[in-house]
Amino acid sequence: MSTNDSACKKPLLYHYLQFLKNQPAGFTYRGATSNKKQKTQAPSGKEQLDALKKSHDNCQSCPLATLGRAQVVFGEGNPNATLMFIGEGPGRDEDEQGRPFIGRAGQLLTKIIQAMNIKREDVYISNVVKCRPPDNRVPLPAESDVCTKLILFKEIEIIKPKIICTLGATALQSLLGSDAKITKQRGIFTNFHDIPVMPTYHPAYLLRNPDAKKFVWEDMKKIMEKLSPT
Ligand code: URA
Repeated sequence: MSTNDSACKKPLLYHYLQFLKNQPAGFTYRGATSNKKQKTQAPSGKEQLDALKKSHDNCQSCPLATLGRAQVVFGEGNPNATLMFIGEGPGRDEDEQGRPFIGRAGQLLTKIIQAMNIKREDVYISNVVKCRPPDNRVPLPAESDVCTKLILFKEIEIIKPKIICTLGATALQSLLGSDAKITKQRGIFTNFHDIPVMPTYHPAYLLRNPDAKKFVWEDMKKIMEKLSPT
């Protein structure tokens, strides 16, 4: 029997250990480690948002689940957005179509974003509650407290926007506390977990009070200034 024949009979592990033994000090077997790395790579923002959305597809965690909603309306937009808008909750159009801010108020929000020279798909748009409150009433604390903990705060954590713009009193209070007043804090940056928050009026308010558009534009200019590279 030749030396080669006997070498072939040894188990594969023996050859692998011999191979490692003959390598210079500090050698690492790239093939094995790079495979491992691929498996443990952190999920992307999109993957995390998709998983969050999937886990609340049929959410039953607050009373809004049983008060006539057609579906859960998750936030939408760029998972790496630098700017995030937060409204109150889906209205009739949003509830029907399953997308946030697509009714009349949403169309105005889209125009505001475009006037800032930003594409709607480059920002992230969400709401305090993801299910339509009956007759578009303001969400109750028992609804908004549950929904923000389960979804909104996690969306913020995943996206890590550079700036959050709250639209109206409900969104402002959900981030900065129930004492926050839109009349006092509108136009003034305040921090939420180190993220600057710009409180402004809700586009639905602007539809009823077009004179207030100039104040919102002032607020958007402050956001644009903060976002622009220095
Ligand atoms: N549409 C939304 O998605 N949110 C609001 O707050 C109002 C209208």
